[in-house]
Amino acid sequence: MRVFNFAAGPATLPLEVLQQVRDELLDWGGGGMSVMEVSHRSKAFIDVAERAEAQLRALMAIPANYKVLFLQGGATGQFSAIPMNLTRADSTIDLVNTGNWSKKALTEAKRYCKVNVVADESASKYSTVPAAAKLVASPGAAYFHYTPNETIGGVEFGYVPDVGAVPLVADFSSTILSRPVDVSRYGLIYAGAQKNIGPSGLCVVIVRDDLIGKARPDTPAIWDYAAMAKEGSMLNTPNTFGIYVAGLVFDWLQKQGGLTAVAERNRRKAETLYRAIDESGYYRNPVALDARSWMNVPFTIPNPDLDKAFVAEAAKAGLANLEGHRSVGGMRASIYNAMPQEGVDALVSFMRDFQRRHG
Ligand SMILES: *Cc1c(COP(=O)(O)O)cnc(C)c1O
Repeated sequence: MRVFNFAAGPATLPLEVLQQVRDELLDWGGGGMSVMEVSHRSKAFIDVAERAEAQLRALMAIPANYKVLFLQGGATGQFSAIPMNLTRADSTIDLVNTGNWSKKALTEAKRYCKVNVVADESASKYSTVPAAAKLVASPGAAYFHYTPNETIGGVEFGYVPDVGAVPLVADFSSTILSRPVDVSRYGLIYAGAQKNIGPSGLCVVIVRDDLIGKARPDTPAIWDYAAMAKEGSMLNTPNTFGIYVAGLVFDWLQKQGGLTAVAERNRRKAETLYRAIDESGYYRNPVALDARSWMNVPFTIPNPDLDKAFVAEAAKAGLANLEGHRSVGGMRASIYNAMPQEGVDALVSFMRDFQRRHG
């Protein structure tokens, strides 16, 4: 029996996509073998990869002067690959620290260059995003990095930082494809796949042409954007299964009406859950109103001794993986694109029932 899976990642995938994967698993495209057993150099697979790229370009309206790369090593790999490709040892980058993932990007970037922390939200325990006016890029910065959605804190930017001519670099892992994005505002967008794209082990990088071809001489070829772009992301064997599933997810999103329609559904799901929390007088979301994430919703109850009971009883009711991140406690519901409104409605009615019994 399928449950509603609120995990932060790897996360729930659309049922229709999983059913298609199942139906094609043993005999993909009539070739008598699984897509996992097919050469990445075969015409059949290259078609899959090209179609996945074309679908992503259509969904996000990615301008022609951007490359789309399907890489490995997750978003974490990009914490290093980005400075390797975009900086020299004497470069400075700007970085906004809004929580756990920003800090990881900061730690890795520091191995390669100087990092100027433009804004640091630790004083609010990472429950806020900085005011737009505070985000001024340093003159000559190699790039300006921020995390549009902090998956653990449940903090999301409601605006795109305006950093002038400095390339804007964004870790979109947990919010890519949740709503339309103006790609032309960015120098580079990257996202691990396992939240809103497909299975883990795949990372999508969308990078403007003028930023590639300048990697440090000691950059490994698999991390060199120019080398990867030249080979169509197939300098080595890519995550073929991941690219195949991502392509099916892109098709599914298109069938949902594209990102404008998807955004409307996500807005409604988030509103349903936040309203239930705010009106309960029992549950609490710690995030500032203008920084609440559409994708990851942390919440607490007055007596944290009951957290375990909440998570266990919810699981029994078919609502899985609601425990908060180990660093923050409480609960967290991740409600990515593939979580239907019915899943959120079921969670809200469970929350009311739990409050009635324990509140
Ligand atoms: C999940 C996540 C990552 C890490 O992704 P990996 O694929 O595990 O490297 C990085 N940044 C954000 C915002 C995330 O949500």
